[in-house]
Amino acid sequence: MKCKVKLPVIILCIFFMSGCIAFTPIFSGVFGMDDPNLFIKTEPLYILPLPQGKNSFILMQGIGGKFSHSGNETWAFDWAMPKGTSVYAARKGIVVGIRNEPEDDKIPLESRKANYVRIMHDDGSIGVYAHIDTTWMTPGRRVESGEVIALSGNTGFSTRPHLHFHVERDGRSIPIAFMDVSDELGIPRAGRTYRR
Ligand SMILES: [Zn+2]
Repeated sequence: MKCKVKLPVIILCIFFMSGCIAFTPIFSGVFGMDDPNLFIKTEPLYILPLPQGKNSFILMQGIGGKFSHSGNETWAFDWAMPKGTSVYAARKGIVVGIRNEPEDDKIPLESRKANYVRIMHDDGSIGVYAHIDTTWMTPGRRVESGEVIALSGNTGFSTRPHLHFHVERDGRSIPIAFMDVSDELGIPRAGRTYRR
């Protein structure tokens, strides 16, 4: 008789515990969940723009993230990382644009502009690395995959230090996949941690 009473309680406890574990990333700063409808299989042409080694970085917003990954920036990735972390080129190409201005604290957050590096690949698509702190890149420079191109930051409309990365064509982000993300599609997911 005792078991009949206790078992539902135990099941209920396990249910709530697993719920808590599942939602832990939200409390640690993840902005919204991925939109699974946007998971499209593409050739994995990219490496993660993250440092190699022990440090891992949580993806705080992924594709279709409700916080800011919509419209032209739907297929985008935000990795939380301390300001000053090295940012790596995810694919080789030519630098076609940079912004490298000091942050002006007097401008309201929503009006601030992010610093960035834009790299055009062989197929004409452009990789965008945004919210960086500083870069020493100059337009016209050739960059190899895995080369350090900037230091991460918190510039522009950003609530915590992170790296935003997306690839665009004709001004719109496009689906991409990473060769060093081990799951089937090679697409990083919000709430998971990544390292190269
Ligand atoms: Zn973003």
